[in-house]
Amino acid sequence: AKQQGRATYQVFDTGLDREIQAREASRQRFATALPEGELRLHYQPQVDIFGGEVIGAEALVRWQHPEEGLLAPGRFLPIIEGTALEIELGEWVIEAALRQLQAWCMQGISLPVHVNISPAHLLSGEFAERLAGLLTCYPEVPARLLKLEVVESAAIHDIQTALSVMRHCQALEIDFAIDDFGTGYSSLTHLRQLPVDLIKIDQSFVRDMLTDPDDMAIVESVIYMANRFRRPMLAEGVETLDHARALLALGCARVQGYGIARPMPAEDFPAWLRDWPGR
Ligand code: C2E
Ligand code: CA
Ligand code: CA
Ligand code: CA
Repeated sequence: AKQQGRATYQVFDTGLDREIQAREASRQRFATALPEGELRLHYQPQVDIFGGEVIGAEALVRWQHPEEGLLAPGRFLPIIEGTALEIELGEWVIEAALRQLQAWCMQGISLPVHVNISPAHLLSGEFAERLAGLLTCYPEVPARLLKLEVVESAAIHDIQTALSVMRHCQALEIDFAIDDFGTGYSSLTHLRQLPVDLIKIDQSFVRDMLTDPDDMAIVESVIYMANRFRRPMLAEGVETLDHARALLALGCARVQGYGIARPMPAEDFPAWLRDWPGR
């Protein structure tokens, strides 16, 4: 009987089964990362290469894993998607960014920080109320210094809810950027309907724009459209000076990418800012 049990077990011990178990194990491991204080925010500068000024920084989450080292979000965001941990992480990120903004404000650095908000978090209910609550915990931080980046799909899922949450946030002086612009559906309709203050041109188009005429056409169209809608735009994934120059020539002066700086720990940011040759 014992052997039979073992045989039955082996039938179900497929690769898929092991994968599900491994995912569950990683999820449980991640659940301890928050209380253990293993999450970090790194900051990537956003600059205006026409005027030369640094216009902000994007906060990007990292997991300082004790055994595996510094993990990029691609390693852990997918495993918590759709779970309560996704919202918990989102709330932690907002609070950590506010804490950093407060520290920088005290050092005389007054720079907008962009935070990525997952669609599920934005639409989770009470988002704006909880944000308002967090803001009151950091009274020294001007609310306008916190910006929220949302991917287009967040709005597509439930445009009415998204609109009302975004309007509520705007009443708190919190601006939105549309992230990964051009990768979603019906961008045009949303651009018209949503209270969006910055359009981020997706890095997948920027990366190959100098060699791929189709990508160049997309970048040109987005810039044209953003201008027609009188919305500021920023190109992400700017890896070289040639990219930056081409974007500037097309009318997009705001850029972010490895060509300017890689995401860095908050403590490195003031020194980077000091050494930045622009204004
Ligand atoms: P994203 O919002 O589009 O962020 C830009 C990503 O591109 C970052 O990757 C950044 O490190 C990377 N990047 C910046 N400049 C360049 C460049 O010149 N070339 C290339 N190849 N890549 C560049 P990262 O940090 O691995 O984040 C990946 C994605 O994870 C983000 O994409 C965002 O969607 C998500 N994410 C990151 N932090 C958070 C967070 O705190 N909350 C949520 N919900 N999502 C986050
Ligand atoms: Ca982003
Ligand atoms: Ca993006
Ligand atoms: Ca391409």
